[in-house]
Amino acid sequence: MIRIANDYDADVVIAGAGPAGAAAACHLARYGVSVMLLDRSSFPRDKVCGDFVGPVALAELGALGVPDIDGYLATNIARRAALYLDGHELISRFFPNLEGMPSYGRVVPRYVLDNWIVEAARRAGARVITGHAVTGFSVADDGVAVGLASPSGTLALRARVLIGTDGSSSTVARVMRGALPPRDDRIVAVRAYYENIAGPNDQLDLYFTRRAFPGYYWLFPTGGGEANVGLGMVLETIPAHAEALAALLKRLIDSDSALAARLNTARLRGKVAGWPLMTYDHRLALVDDRVILAGDAAGLINPLNGEGIQYALLSGRWAAETVAQCVRNHDYSAAALMPYASRVERELRYDMALARLIVQLIANRGLNPVWLEALRLITARARKDAAYAEIAGGILAGLAPARSALSVRMIGGTIDQAAMSLAIKAVLTTFSGPAAWSSLGLDAAQVGFQLAYDAMTNPLSFGDWLMRVVSDALELGVQASKGVVAAPLVSARPAAVAIR
Ligand SMILES: Cc1cc2nc3c(=O)[nH]c(=O)nc-3n(C[C@H](O)[C@H](O)[C@H](O)COP(=O)(O)OP(=O)(O)OC[C@H]3O[C@@H](n4cnc5c(N)ncnc54)[C@H](O)[C@@H]3O)c2cc1C
Repeated sequence: MIRIANDYDADVVIAGAGPAGAAAACHLARYGVSVMLLDRSSFPRDKVCGDFVGPVALAELGALGVPDIDGYLATNIARRAALYLDGHELISRFFPNLEGMPSYGRVVPRYVLDNWIVEAARRAGARVITGHAVTGFSVADDGVAVGLASPSGTLALRARVLIGTDGSSSTVARVMRGALPPRDDRIVAVRAYYENIAGPNDQLDLYFTRRAFPGYYWLFPTGGGEANVGLGMVLETIPAHAEALAALLKRLIDSDSALAARLNTARLRGKVAGWPLMTYDHRLALVDDRVILAGDAAGLINPLNGEGIQYALLSGRWAAETVAQCVRNHDYSAAALMPYASRVERELRYDMALARLIVQLIANRGLNPVWLEALRLITARARKDAAYAEIAGGILAGLAPARSALSVRMIGGTIDQAAMSLAIKAVLTTFSGPAAWSSLGLDAAQVGFQLAYDAMTNPLSFGDWLMRVVSDALELGVQASKGVVAAPLVSARPAAVAIR
């Protein structure tokens, strides 16, 4: 056991009691470190989310003892996912089976889930203080003073280390870095709950349409005939004069035949709520003297699928491991906290770099036809190639790192499918006559023309986009050259736990 602080309010103060903060608090308390977990809200509290808890996150929850809490085992299990384009099902698959991991996820409203993780932290010995917002902090040689505000006034706490897990609009990150994160790292998403939905309770639905692309929308059943329905988009892809996201979601629900079929007799419960997400930027620091960032506050969210709970739980654990070591060594300098940042980099930076580049490319609406065709090719291949489908499904479920998409099997399979699809198209057009022949070339010309048109009519924003693509491509190149092995995220899971 590590000794308990008495000249400080706690060894460690954690700002934000979402999955990242509560996981860090639980692990630290188990190490015997005195820890105070703060949140501006009172629990249970809602959090805008898709509520999908993937297999990796389930393993982390198991390590925290959350499955022992009443009600957990009754939460809805998702065993498969289906992908739709313009109302037509492209593919439906069960989650892949990976040794030592559940072949399912759960869909648990955050109002319930987050309260359970806080409860696990409390049971482990963390002191939980809600209804107090962290307003700032200042670091001195012998500690960190954390400013708090509540309806009854302001106060300051003293600790050895501050962990910032206060979400995507993190106050701790802003103060630590001295600036807000760049605007182009932002995704916005909305979600609503529906009752009395139709269709299977164990199936997650993901929808794409030309109208909403590059955004996507989803229906994730939460059990008992209810579902979480939402829409996510990269901020800069939302046209300035377009309907607000909530209105767009409602229009999509009415116009998408596949989604409408599931919501035919359903009723909206409550309001459509929105939330911004900050994606990972390797140039932004994750640690400083006596301060460390985890979860959404560190931008640890997969910009491809918006998944962040597993990264919040993982980074909360990694932060706790490093901080516990610092408490043992009485060293809280940025250098002593650096093993945490290195771990995030080792486990996640390559994946985040790949996901960022893809999102940057997708962000240009001129390339929409290319991406929609790629989606068709990938799903067509997955329908007939089980090993390929296993990898694609693994990436979607957050089980396999996104860099598996760059494996020989995936690239080879996709090229093969593209060549075959082109050959089939060529044969069909040969028999359809000259009018159809020109349409093949026209598709490609249309994309090129659209990009050239964008470059001429709005050179500044086109140049800006191009610079971001180049910079993200360079970052991916650097990460790829480090030769990171595409090991499943299972390697990052805690020591043997029963997963439920
Ligand atoms: C619409 C949408 C859908 C999503 N769907 C999914 C999904 O299906 N699956 C998935 O894995 N991820 C999903 N995510 C991402 C996921 O919600 C986040 O990655 C996850 O919540 C991150 O956890 P966290 O603990 O880092 O932050 P949060 O869960 O945001 O927790 C931060 C906590 O800090 C508190 N706080 C904030 N400021 C202060 C302050 N100044 N002082 C004190 N406390 C403060 C907040 O009250 C909150 O409790 C989605 C996100 C959105 C927006």
